[in-house]
This record gives sequence, C-alpha cells and structure tokens, in this order.
Amino acid sequence: MTGTNTTDFDVHPAIDRLWREIENREDELNQLIANLVWYQSVLGSEADVQHFVAGHLQLSGLETDVWDIEESLKELPESGDSGVPFEGRPNVAGIQRGAGGGRSLIVNGHVDVVSPEPLDNWTYDPWAAEVVENRMYGRGALDMKAGVAINLMLPRWLRDVGIQTRGDIVIQSVIEEECTGNGALDMSRRYQADAAIITEPTGGSFTQAHVGVMWFKIRVKGRSAHAAVAPTGVNAISKMVPIIRALEDLDRELNEGSHPSFEGIDHPINLNIGVMSSGDWPSTVPGMAELDCRVSFYPGKTVEEMRSEIEQAVRHASQTDNWLQENPPEVVYHGFQSGGSTVSMDEPHVQLLGSWHQYLNGSAMAPRSGTGTNDMRYFNFAGIPCGCYGPGGAGPHAADEYLDLSTVVPTAKVLAAFMLDWCGIVDE
Ligand SMILES: [Zn+2]
Repeated sequence: MTGTNTTDFDVHPAIDRLWREIENREDELNQLIANLVWYQSVLGSEADVQHFVAGHLQLSGLETDVWDIEESLKELPESGDSGVPFEGRPNVAGIQRGAGGGRSLIVNGHVDVVSPEPLDNWTYDPWAAEVVENRMYGRGALDMKAGVAINLMLPRWLRDVGIQTRGDIVIQSVIEEECTGNGALDMSRRYQADAAIITEPTGGSFTQAHVGVMWFKIRVKGRSAHAAVAPTGVNAISKMVPIIRALEDLDRELNEGSHPSFEGIDHPINLNIGVMSSGDWPSTVPGMAELDCRVSFYPGKTVEEMRSEIEQAVRHASQTDNWLQENPPEVVYHGFQSGGSTVSMDEPHVQLLGSWHQYLNGSAMAPRSGTGTNDMRYFNFAGIPCGCYGPGGAGPHAADEYLDLSTVVPTAKVLAAFMLDWCGIVDE
C-alpha cells in the first residue's frame, strides 16, 4: 500500500496469503498464548519462559540471541534497579534477515508479569489460561503474553507461507518491563532498526505518548520506647504524617501542569503512596517508618527534575517539625527511574500501521496517551521511532485479567500486513 487512500488499493497477494494463514491458525495462536500464561514469569522467574521463546524463534528458522544483561547497565541513565541480579534471566532476540533493499523493523514484547496477589480476589486460576465466553483469563494473558505470542508467530507464518521480506525483522522478548525497563534499555543499545512496535495491549489504539515513572522510598527515623513511657520516644509513624500531606500536595501541583498529549485525561499524573511500613508491636513506639511510592511525570521532564521536586517537598514538610529538621528524612530511589516519551502520529511507520488498521477495521487507529509507562521510551530515546499497538481485554495488573480472544486475529492481521508493507516483499 502506498499513499493515504485506504479504501482503493490492491492488497499484495502475499499479504492476502498471510492473512488466510493467520485465520486458519487461530487455534494454534491461542494455544501459544495459553502456553505462555502457564509460565509464572514474575520478576526473578523469567528464565523458563525466555528459553521457551528462544526455542520457538529458533524453530522458525531465526538467528537467536540469548544473553544475560550486564550488571553495569544499572549505572546508565534511565535504568533502574529491581534488586534482582540479571544472571540467568536472559533477554532474547530472533533475527529474520531480509533480502536487502527494505526497511527494518523491531517487534518487541515483555514476558514479565506482575504478581497475581491477592489470589482470593480471582474467580479463575491466574496461571491456567482458562477460556470462558471467548475470554482468556490469567495473569499476563492480556499484559502481554498475547502480544508476545503474536510476535513469535509473525516469522513462523512468514516461513510457512514462503514469504521473504526485504528488510530485517528483529523479534524481541525482554524482562523487567514492569519494574525498571532494563530489558528494553539493553535491547535499544544492542539492535537498531528503522522503526519499532511493541505489541502491548492497546485494544487497537496506538500509544503515542506515555508518562515517565519513578519509584522512591522515604525513610523517617523515630526513637523507639516502651508504650508505657511513650513520650520518651519519638513515634516515626506520627512523624511521617506531614510527609504524606506534602506528597498529596505535590500530586495536586503536578496535575496543575499540562501536556498536549494528555489533554482531556482526568488526573493524568499520579503520585501513589503504595506501601507504608513501620512498627512491629502495639506496645512499642516505632523507631522507623518507610513509604514506598510511585510518581509519574510528563514527557520532557527529566528524572533529575522530578527528584528535586520530591526532595524539595520532603524538605519543606520537615521544616515544620524540630525532630524532622534534626533528623532529615532520607529519600531513596529504586525500580523505575525513567522519563516519558512521545512518538509522532506522522511517523511513516505509524501512518502505515494506521492505514492497515483502517483498512481492516473500517475506522481510524485512535491515538492514546498512557498514564503508566511502557518500554517504548528506550527506542524513542535511541532514535528508533516506537509506539504500542496490540489486542484488547481488561484488568491488566488486576484480578481476573483477561484477553478478549476476538481481538487477537484482527490485531495479528494488521501487524502482519504492516510488517510486509514496511519491510518490503521479495516477489516470487
Ligand atoms: Zn505490559
């Protein structure tokens, strides 16, 4: 397809052949998604699924690249530290060499999933990939084993129908999307391409912007004492109260700013106090309290700028209290430490993807802006324009997460046609 008229053109016979192959192999695709869901690939447990992925790529005839990320990556800007060593939890890539003379494409997905806890919130077994009324339930079914399965099947289908592309295709499977992005950061340094797509679950819309995300802890010291003589101690929980208030104020202030990609979204920026820990005994004055928080920020703001706003808010709150002035709270950073990113809807590959979406769905591919982060940022930082497009469902990171199976084949068909159109087809 060329040009912008999406209703009046001939579909290349190779694309038509590929579409029929995808339709005929729907059961196989769904089975592959289920296989991936069975792997309980939470942080630290990605090895088995990554070896399965590598084996699948190898069977499709791709050059496979399986490696452990070097610990020194954690020193790089925009990296994070999940607290888990990289050894034995590889990144995986499969390279399908083109015949030459075409544009190259990276197709990326992550295999890590968040914990399904608390399990008693689930109606279904989170690791069983149970299908009920065309929904596949399971942790990661939507986010994003379905996308990973599509990524794996794209080169398999190509091989089986005997289509060769001109440009190279690199299928990537990364770790740590859900906590740091380190897997994608390493990929963006290792492989170059003319464009990249991440098949995160977007329900057929296109993620063209997302916020930056940072995790941080705030530690406040108290002085422990027996509750019978509580005034001789300093209660760290009570001392945390002005800090909590200051963070709530900061959340409000951050939402007073604006960004063109996030207009019309209610409360796009969220400073969430996710964990509070302190104390271990009702009759003891707690000597330490800790908050563990997540804050988001608009693309364009740097990690350093966000850090200084947090530290300023904490400092400001401490000035109202003698104890806190003398024992300044400590701010510690861990996990996500990365800015947001945007990709233009006018990028050639986004336009082309949108044309195929429009052709197959009869409606325009809607842009969306993510109020959470995703791995696209590293490719955009590296000069490889990247956004997300994938299947639909509901409940990512929640109980009863499910994939809407009716969206899988249509998504795969859009991606397959786009891939051939972008990379170019070698005529038989
Ligand atoms: Zn995801």
